[in-house]
Amino acid sequence: MIKEYNNVSSETYLNRFLKDDELIRLLGSQGSYFPVMSMIHLAFLWNVMSKEGIWFPSCGVHGISDLLQEVVIGNEGEIKLNSGIKEILVEDNRAVGVELMNGDVYSAKWIIVNADYKKTVLKLMNKNNFSSEYLKHVKNSKYTSSELSVYLGINSDNLDLTKMRANHLFYRATYDDKNEGDPENFKNKEIEICDWSNKSPEFAPKGKKNLILRVTMPYEHFKHWKLGDKMKKDGYQEYKKNLARKLIKTVESILPGLSSSIEVMEVATPLTYEDWGQRSHGSIAGWNRDMKNIYMKHKSLIENPIPHLLHVGIYSFLEPFLGGVPTSIYSGCLAADHILQNNEI
Ligand SMILES: Cc1cc2nc3c(=O)[nH]c(=O)nc-3n(C[C@H](O)[C@H](O)[C@H](O)COP(=O)(O)OP(=O)(O)OC[C@H]3O[C@@H](n4cnc5c(N)ncnc54)[C@H](O)[C@@H]3O)c2cc1C
Repeated sequence: MIKEYNNVSSETYLNRFLKDDELIRLLGSQGSYFPVMSMIHLAFLWNVMSKEGIWFPSCGVHGISDLLQEVVIGNEGEIKLNSGIKEILVEDNRAVGVELMNGDVYSAKWIIVNADYKKTVLKLMNKNNFSSEYLKHVKNSKYTSSELSVYLGINSDNLDLTKMRANHLFYRATYDDKNEGDPENFKNKEIEICDWSNKSPEFAPKGKKNLILRVTMPYEHFKHWKLGDKMKKDGYQEYKKNLARKLIKTVESILPGLSSSIEVMEVATPLTYEDWGQRSHGSIAGWNRDMKNIYMKHKSLIENPIPHLLHVGIYSFLEPFLGGVPTSIYSGCLAADHILQNNEI
């Protein structure tokens, strides 16, 4: 059954049984977009959404990194912060170490890489390690898009958040298929509104709340602002703040008074996620969901074509079947098992 539904597109499947466009969008994208995923991927995500539930780490997302750090240090490991990798070194078709940006070289029997897959293959490794066909497949396969995120610290005394009716709301004011191309037409886009301080009140000062507004935003729409690594043209800050204000205004149609309740605002764009998250083109959530945009042959990319190099993280599977962070954690466990089983090689 898994094999069969792996090759069926959710669009074909849903169109076979349903006629209502809105219902097809809702069931097919868990939101307001037309379905593009394989049926099996969609089934996994509905299982997470409707049966397992969305996980929220009781320790907060930073808590997961803190726990990992404790385990590494507790086992006499060493963590070197701010030590970017310049190149993953390969000898005799086997990964043997890494060179840092500062020129230091470390040798290791196994290398586990958590940078995104395109970056790893196309930027952190010598191209001679791969066939030109493989490089073409990696380059031409697409990632998920980036987004504009507005992080708000609010005083909610005069704001009725019960109107959200949930901690996590997907809101879209209109459906206009013909004009879906305008990235700044927020009325015609799905806006994710997250009230995480309801889950973790300690994330905000007493009596205050935080709210995150998220909307997809193509990297290309922002790239002309970029001058270099973490460098933007004059006017970028003002432009992104204006865009954030426009997004807030759209959200005000369901949360009136939001603008006047804001005390702190931070805005992240595709360039933020590229510069600070170090993701290729600021991509948010792994490989593109539409398999027609993917030319890779294997759904799990953990065992890179280069022996002794293991790829983990959200880009190590073509379909993040457990969602983002859980799939990343799962990939780390698989890589650890692989090393334990193959350590003699
Ligand atoms: C705005 C936003 C919201 C999201 N919301 C959710 C959510 O609600 N739930 C969810 O499950 N997922 C969410 N995701 C996806 C989430 O980012 C991933 O699920 C998770 O962070 C993936 O973990 P990772 O380890 O694969 O990648 P990352 O957390 O991106 O880790 C990769 C690490 O590699 C480092 N790196 C890259 N290049 C180098 C180099 N050359 N040298 C050294 N280090 C390098 C980066 O600095 C980074 O620390 C969100 C992503 C974004 C951007």
